[in-house]
Amino acid sequence: MNADERRYRILLESAFVCVYERLNGLHAAVVPAATNPMTNDTVTRRFVLTSIAAAPSLAKNPTPFGEAAYRASPMQAHNQVMTALSSFKPRSQEILRSVLDDKGFRGQIGAAAVRELLRSESETIDSLMLSLLPLASTFSRPPLSKYLVGAVVAGSSGNLYLGANIEIPGQSLGLALHAEQAACANAYMSGETGVIATAVTAAPCGHCRQFLNELSLDGNIRVLRKDAPPAQLSTLLPMAFGPKDLGFTQGALPIREAHLSLLTPSSDGQILAALDAARRAYSPYTNSPSGVALRTSDGRLFVGSYIENAAFNPSLPPLQAALAGLFASGQEPAAISKAILVELEGAKISQLSAARATLSSLAPAVRLEVFAAKRDG
Ligand SMILES: [Zn+2]
Repeated sequence: MNADERRYRILLESAFVCVYERLNGLHAAVVPAATNPMTNDTVTRRFVLTSIAAAPSLAKNPTPFGEAAYRASPMQAHNQVMTALSSFKPRSQEILRSVLDDKGFRGQIGAAAVRELLRSESETIDSLMLSLLPLASTFSRPPLSKYLVGAVVAGSSGNLYLGANIEIPGQSLGLALHAEQAACANAYMSGETGVIATAVTAAPCGHCRQFLNELSLDGNIRVLRKDAPPAQLSTLLPMAFGPKDLGFTQGALPIREAHLSLLTPSSDGQILAALDAARRAYSPYTNSPSGVALRTSDGRLFVGSYIENAAFNPSLPPLQAALAGLFASGQEPAAISKAILVELEGAKISQLSAARATLSSLAPAVRLEVFAAKRDG
């Protein structure tokens, strides 16, 4: 075993990192731990990926890690991130690395970091958003289409949100998450009151235009693409069908919390997180709020609220909303250790079968636990 391989093994054994095949004779492992034995520092998955790819002999000989096309090879994921960062100035790369390495990162770049990036790059917000698209694309998991799509959303707060397309192998295409939906889900779950603009690597599909239409009743979202002038959503979706056509005067944002409580009270943090996500759901057409909370082996929680759509089909299931944050954080679904869904008892529709189908493909060992909620008052 040479020095690089030894280094790799130490890092692999010292962090939670999923590897599914052998690499140069080293066995696969899923090892929950949080300390680098060489430095006693906390080890993040991103740190491990960075270190693995920094090992020259491994970089020259990139053995495929993935057990399936679905899971990104750590080497590949690392290289994609490094390539995406390389187009930025050194100071901007530092800012972005620190954003990505933050344990709470769920695809968001805070307003203060955005201002620093604008100064460092001497760019406008529109061009910065376009520059971030390759980084957003690194979260993409498209085993079916192999088509990497990234999206960056600007929220009213000044924060930016990254998202990418996620396809669920073996399941209905209706369960796929589009990049714009993922970025918007990350904005929604961060409590944004509105979406101002979205940058996308390709023109938004009709499904996403309809999804965005639910976030801004006046169609006043700026859509940015490279090599094309900015366009208003209302221009891209003329004669739109939306909440107003069904008698509603408000869209999905800002979030209006519902008064829900559990039928059987609980003090479990993950169940309460799923309940909180259900309270923040948007379901004016079916009155069926729901929320999901995923726990990963390193103890992190990823929550998702159901976001309904006037045209029904572009509605975003709560599990998919949670997955948008999970993938943006650099986690893989194999890291999910527990999944909880909270739904309104007796609601017109249920997310249970779709969520179970999605999980059966991504984290087959995890059984979705369901808890019923009731409306208060
Ligand atoms: Zn789309």
